[in-house]
Amino acid sequence: MKAVVYKGPFEVAVEEVENPRIEHPNEVIVRVTSTAICGSDLHMYEGRTAAEPGIVFGHENLGVIEELGAGVTTLKRGDRVVMPFNVACGFCKNCVARFTGFCTTVNPGFAGGAYGYVAMGPWTGGQAEYLKVPYADFNCLKLPEGKEKESDFILLADIFPTGYHGNELAQVSPGESVAVYGGGPVGLMAAYSAMIRGAKKVFVVDRVLERLQKAEEIGAIPINFAEGNPVEQIKERTDGEGTDKGIDAVGYQAQAHTEDREEPATVLNSLVGTVRPTGALGIPGLYVPADPGGPDENSKRGMLMVSIGKLFEKGLRLGTGQCNVKRYNRQLRDMIIEDRARPSFVVSHELPLDEAPTAYDKFDKRVEGYTKVVLHPQA
Ligand code: NAD
Ligand code: ZN
Ligand code: ZN
Repeated sequence: MKAVVYKGPFEVAVEEVENPRIEHPNEVIVRVTSTAICGSDLHMYEGRTAAEPGIVFGHENLGVIEELGAGVTTLKRGDRVVMPFNVACGFCKNCVARFTGFCTTVNPGFAGGAYGYVAMGPWTGGQAEYLKVPYADFNCLKLPEGKEKESDFILLADIFPTGYHGNELAQVSPGESVAVYGGGPVGLMAAYSAMIRGAKKVFVVDRVLERLQKAEEIGAIPINFAEGNPVEQIKERTDGEGTDKGIDAVGYQAQAHTEDREEPATVLNSLVGTVRPTGALGIPGLYVPADPGGPDENSKRGMLMVSIGKLFEKGLRLGTGQCNVKRYNRQLRDMIIEDRARPSFVVSHELPLDEAPTAYDKFDKRVEGYTKVVLHPQA
């Protein structure tokens, strides 16, 4: 079958690889009809991780069940399903507590598994014609038959739940104001989720104009950090008080505000400045235990200069980590079915699998409006 294979920094290729095979009675093979490229893939694409050439990317996957192991009980051939990017067993200590992003079964020695991701276990990615799904009864979420709303449903694999998770971590409640740093797919989904949760005012901070424009289209207030300190810009618009809550949808590859260089702690420090005393921060943006490509000695060891004193003084709470997609995907799916949510506004490009190399290049450069790319390996 054809698959998107990582070749080395800034290079992927669509190549022939072996088809996946059922090796355990609880597995299914899915014919992949939609698979999205994620900002998290870019960390590997840019050579900023230990990902080795040869890995098949793709943790955001949707398709139709083609083949079932003998032990699968709730699914049948032809079912349209979307899988959380987390691979999870459903029965370990963390899964039972609904922390499916931290499954201890699927990736020994590390809490949490994912398809096609470095350090996240042996699970091959779905930017390919077929995908093997383990613990299939647990990991497949059934969708209405047919093709309808495919560009909404694919976002249930990661970014819609992850944006929602940012709000859950920050405990966003009706009537609150929220600052979202990052207007990428995760940031836009966090802003959209804040509205769903009844926030009164949502800011989205970025410098990519098309992304700020999308934020404005959904009713958020765009803040361009290239035009001045975002903390001050937001304070000016909140009577000097700052927001009730804040979400980091950028992570460790954050750009400095004034110059074109990385400053990994910028967003964390901006959030400490932006959120009012007693507020809370949700941090779905990715931070790594070590970043060999980091801009200074501390960040190379995963140590960031965060203003912990200010955080203490303001009594801010914070939460972070992988999204436990399974905790939210059913409810968010039902909102899509009932037309209460249309997250596909974030999808900028739908392309055949063969165009993955160009799509990675442009999404990585954040040019030509590339915000969220969905690939279609199969009809
Ligand atoms: P993305 O790279 O497309 O978006 C990041 C955006 O942040 C870009 O538009 C960039 O211009 C902007 N940005 C850079 N520096 C900034 C700054 N100082 N202030 C404000 N904005 C700034 O990525 P994405 O797909 O939206 O993902 C965002 C982050 O979320 C990544 O770190 C990704 O790895 C992480 N992620 C986490 C989870 C999870 O489960 N926790 C899931 C998916 C993605
Ligand atoms: Zn993702
Ligand atoms: Zn588990």
